[in-house]
Amino acid sequence: MRIEFRKIDIGKKDFEILYQNLNFSGNFSRNRKNLVEIVAKIEGVLPIICDRCSEIYQQDIDEEITLFVSNGEYNSKNSENLLEDVVEFYDEFVDFDALFESEIESIKSDYHICKNCK
Ligand SMILES: [Zn+2]
Repeated sequence: MRIEFRKIDIGKKDFEILYQNLNFSGNFSRNRKNLVEIVAKIEGVLPIICDRCSEIYQQDIDEEITLFVSNGEYNSKNSENLLEDVVEFYDEFVDFDALFESEIESIKSDYHICKNCK
């Protein structure tokens, strides 16, 4: 799902993306810093490799995330508070699928151990 930056305004809009057994849903709007703010949840089940025994197991996922997206390069000098997690897109679109994928990758890269190893 891709949405044009210029079509996103201060009114919150809901979205939902399903991918395999995961659900990425929430809302997005334009905030006062002209960033797109996405408040969302990732819920479902994700196959994950146990860091101890290397077996694949099904991990329950229930994560709340807030993302800030900038249309082009984000210049943090213009804002008094430095926002750490600003994702930059350079083609006038917010790519929700790419955001979802990178969140999944970051969940996968955390340290995980399966039930048998706990
Ligand atoms: Zn294990």
